Amino acid sequence: MIIIMLGAQGTGKGTVAGLISKSIGLPQVSTGDIFRQNISEKTELGIEADKYISKGNLVPDDITVPMVEDRLTWEDAKNGVILDGFPRTIEQAEKLDEILSKNGKKVDLVVNLVTPKEELIDRMLTRRVCTNQECKATYNTKLNPPKEEGICDRCGSPLKQREDDSDPKAIERRLEIYEEKTSPLVQYYDKKGVLKTETVSLAINRMGKDVAEDVIKFLNK
Ligand code: ADP
Ligand code: ZN
Repeated sequence: MIIIMLGAQGTGKGTVAGLISKSIGLPQVSTGDIFRQNISEKTELGIEADKYISKGNLVPDDITVPMVEDRLTWEDAKNGVILDGFPRTIEQAEKLDEILSKNGKKVDLVVNLVTPKEELIDRMLTRRVCTNQECKATYNTKLNPPKEEGICDRCGSPLKQREDDSDPKAIERRLEIYEEKTSPLVQYYDKKGVLKTETVSLAINRMGKDVAEDVIKFLNK
């Protein structure tokens, strides 16, 4: 089964994807995490991708698409994956459809997370991530703080703010790109009849874990 997580930066895509992944046993494939891992290991791919990521721009398709295509061939992905951060453009969605159809697969479900814009920026500014690349747990200093400030509950490593989350220009740029390039995917997948839209918002007290529970119930039906 191929599941896609869609939603602007800060909606909690990664958190929801992680909870669904744990419950149904499909790997979470986050393109942002793969890039960050490559950046920290200073691989060729990482050095190239960082030129775009640090400014809040998308990494070009000739880097991103083959990276995802390769990841889908791994043994752990044979029963499917939860894609978190890919596709982000109509072109990427079309390329994904091609890649999947070559293997007799298709996109089965797209979970579209919607959060009021004023909450998104706040969520990005208060997001903290574990510096241990094997762990990558995420926290939020307001909504989901660690037990001890600045320390990961899960592995004890220090937490930090992502560079692109600490730069207001990069935050703005990422939200602009989302509106322009990624939001058309909502209609693209709605037309295919695979879209499930869910609201995540502090204002209505509906958090990522509530949404994940809903999706898991829906999948087990
Ligand atoms: P966010 O959703 O907050 O932008 P991610 O961790 O998903 O964070 O991605 C971080 C960065 O990695 C993005 O800003 C972008 O530069 C790059 N990136 C991730 N996924 C893609 C993709 N599918 N296509 C192009 N660039 C991507
Ligand atoms: Zn950790």
